[in-house]
Amino acid sequence: MRIVVIGGGPGALYFAISAKLRDAGHDITVIERDPPGATYGWGVVYWDDLLDALYSNDAESARELRAASVLWQQQEVRLRGETAFYAGYGYSVERAALLEILGRRAADVGVRVRYQEEVHDLSGFRDADLVVAADGAGSRVRQQGEHFGTTLSTGANPYIWLGTDKVFSKFLFDFRETPAGWVWCHAYPSTSGISTFIVECQERTWNGLGLDGPAGDASTSALEEIFSDVLGGRRLISESRGRPARWLRFTEVVNDRWHHDGVVLLGDAAHTTHFTIGSGTRLAILDAIALAQSLYERGDSLPRALDLYEKRRRRPMMRTQAAARSSMAWFERVDLYTDRDSVAFAAAMAARQGSLPPWRHQLHLLEQLAPARAAHRCYETGHRFFLARRRGEPLRSTSFAPRRAPAGTVPAARPRTEDLPAPQARSVAV
Ligand SMILES: Cc1cc2nc3c(=O)[nH]c(=O)nc-3n(C[C@H](O)[C@H](O)[C@H](O)COP(=O)(O)OP(=O)(O)OC[C@H]3O[C@@H](n4cnc5c(N)ncnc54)[C@H](O)[C@@H]3O)c2cc1C
Repeated sequence: MRIVVIGGGPGALYFAISAKLRDAGHDITVIERDPPGATYGWGVVYWDDLLDALYSNDAESARELRAASVLWQQQEVRLRGETAFYAGYGYSVERAALLEILGRRAADVGVRVRYQEEVHDLSGFRDADLVVAADGAGSRVRQQGEHFGTTLSTGANPYIWLGTDKVFSKFLFDFRETPAGWVWCHAYPSTSGISTFIVECQERTWNGLGLDGPAGDASTSALEEIFSDVLGGRRLISESRGRPARWLRFTEVVNDRWHHDGVVLLGDAAHTTHFTIGSGTRLAILDAIALAQSLYERGDSLPRALDLYEKRRRRPMMRTQAAARSSMAWFERVDLYTDRDSVAFAAAMAARQGSLPPWRHQLHLLEQLAPARAAHRCYETGHRFFLARRRGEPLRSTSFAPRRAPAGTVPAARPRTEDLPAPQARSVAV
C-alpha cells in the first residue's frame, strides 16, 4: 500500500514504524515541515501502561525511549509556600529525544522521512492509497473540506511551555499569589540537566502582570522573578529546538468522523486533551498502533480497516476528553480552592476528574508523614520492577543518553490491539 503521512510528530513516526513492521511491503513516506531535530516544547510525561504498549509493539524503540527517559518518584503541591506531598511516579522524556529516536527507527525499518516540506493541500498525493493526517491540533489536512465534523473550543487560561536548567527531581506544582491573582508552574525533570517548566495563570492575572505583551525576554524575566526561589536563581529557557515559546491557550479538537475518502486523522489532528492530564503523546502513539493493526487485520479492505480503527479509538476517546475538560476547568477556577491548606488543596486537585474514593483520601493524609511516603515508595519500586520484568525491560535502562538500535528488526509476535491498554485519563500530578 502507498501511504503518505503528513507531519513528523510522535504519532506520525510511530504509525509509520508500526505499519512497516507489520507489512514490510508498505511504501510509506512521512512529510514534516520542520528540519530534523527541530521541535516545540520540552519534556512529556508518561506511565507504565505506555511502556507496556511500546514494548509489545516494537521492543527496539521502546528500549531506546526508556533509556532516554527520567523517572520521577514523588509529586509535591505547594500553595503559599506550604508543601503537600503526593505519592505516585511517572517517566518523562524530552520531546526532541523522543522524535530523534522515532525518526531514526523509522529510517531503519525503511520509512522515507522528508523534512522541511510543508504540505498545503493533498493535490500532490492522488496516487496514495492512504493519507494519514498527523499534522497536529491545527491540522491543515483536516481543514480541506468539511468532512470530519470538527469542533474546536478554546480554554480560558494562558500558558507557556518553558524549560529550565534548574534540575527538578520530582513533579512540582507551585501556586503563587500575586497582586494580580494566581499564577502557577508545572515543573518536572525532562532530560539530563534540563527540566520542563510550564507556567499557567488566569487571564486577569496575565493582564495584570503585564505578561500579555509579546512573549520573550521580558515575560521570561518576570516569571523568573515570581518563581525565583523555586528556580534557585537558575534561568528559564524559552527556545527548545525550534522557535521561542509563546503564550498560548489550549484548543480542544473533537471530530465526529476520523476518516473520509482515504484520508484518516491521527493524534492531535483527531483529538486533543488538556496538558494537565499529560496524555496527548501517549494517545497519539496508541492511535498509531491501532491504525497500523487495523490495516494489518483488514488489509483486504481499506474502508473496513479505517472503520475498525475509528471504532477502536474514537468512542473511548470521548471519555478521555471529558476527563481532560474537567481537569482544564479545575485550573480555570483554581481560586475557588485556594482558601484551603495545602493538603486539602492537593486533595481537591486530585479529585478534579471525579471524586476520590474515601481510602484514597485517607492515604493522601497518611502520605504527609515521611515514613508512610517511604513505605509507599518501596511498594511502588517493587511494582515497577515487576512490570519492567514482565515486559522484558533490561534492568539498567535509566541512563539519559539515547542509544542507537540495530537496524530492521521486527517483532516476533504481532501485537493485538485488544492487548493494548484502553484509553484512559491519567492525572499529571495527583
Ligand atoms: C504544554 C504542553 C504539555 C504537554 N505535556 C504532555 C505530556 O506530559 N504527556 C503527553 O503525553 N502529552 C503532552 N502534551 C501533548 C503532546 O505534546 C501532543 O498531544 C502530541 O505532541 C501530539 O502528537 P502528534 O504527533 O499528534 O502531533 P504533533 O506533535 O503536534 O506533531 C505534528 C507535526 O506535524 C508537523 N506539521 C504540521 N503541519 C504540517 C504541514 N502542513 N506539513 C508538514 N508538516 C506539518 C508539525 O511540524 C509537527 O512536527 C503536552 C502538550 C502541551 C501543549
